[in-house]
Amino acid sequence: MDKNGRIDLHTHSFFSDGILLPSEMLRRAEALGYAAMAITDHVDASNLDEIAAQLVRFYREGLAGFGLTFVPGVELTHVPPQQIAPLARRAKRLGVRLVVVHGETPVEPVVPGTNRAAVECRDVDILAHPGFITQEEAALAAANGVTLELSARGGHNMTNGHIARIAQLAGVRLVVNTDTHAPADMMDQARAWQVARGAGLAEDQAEAVLCANPQALVAQALRPLRRTI
Ligand SMILES: [Zn+2]
Ligand SMILES: [Zn+2]
Repeated sequence: MDKNGRIDLHTHSFFSDGILLPSEMLRRAEALGYAAMAITDHVDASNLDEIAAQLVRFYREGLAGFGLTFVPGVELTHVPPQQIAPLARRAKRLGVRLVVVHGETPVEPVVPGTNRAAVECRDVDILAHPGFITQEEAALAAANGVTLELSARGGHNMTNGHIARIAQLAGVRLVVNTDTHAPADMMDQARAWQVARGAGLAEDQAEAVLCANPQALVAQALRPLRRTI
C-alpha cells in the first residue's frame, strides 16, 4: 500500500515544540517514503506572524534538492473560539497554505466550542484530533470543506473510532496525521494504514483516507494564489 507515498499534514518543528529543524524533518520524511509533508507549528496571536514568515520563507527558498512536496502550515492552538476565524484568515493572508485547528482532544482542556468554530470557518483546512465531535459539527465540516483528522498520536488517538464513524455518517473527508514532534513519531504508509484500519475503516475507505484525500488537500493548498488588487 504505497499509492504514490505517504502524506502527513500535521507536524511540528522546533519553531514551536518539535525538536527538529525543517530540513531534518524533510530529509527524514523523504527517507520514510513521504510524498508530501506539512509543517504546522503551534500558533496563537503572539507568534502567528513570525512562524508564518519562517515557514513561508522555507517554502520559497529552502526546498532545492529535496524530493518531496512541502506545505507551510500552522496549528491554531488553544485560542478562544472567537479568535479562530480571524487568525485563520490572517494566516492565509500571510502566505500560510494549510490551517489546522487544535481540536477538542479528550486529553487536554481545549475550550468547548473550538470544534464548532473550526468547522464553521472556510479558512480552516483540517480540524485535528476533534475528540467526541458531534454529527452536527461533522456535517458543518463537510459543508465548509474542513477535513477531520485521525491522529496517530497517543492520547489524541483515543477517539479515532468515534471520529471515523461520525465522519462516515456525515460524509466528511478524513486524513491520518502523525502530529510529529520528534523523529520517532513519523510513520511510513504501512503504519498509517494500520491507524486507518484500526479506526474501523474498510480497506477502500482507508485507501481514500491515505491517498486521494490528502492528495486533494495538498493540491488545493498549493494551487496558485489569486492576485489581490
Ligand atoms: Zn494539536
Ligand atoms: Zn499538533
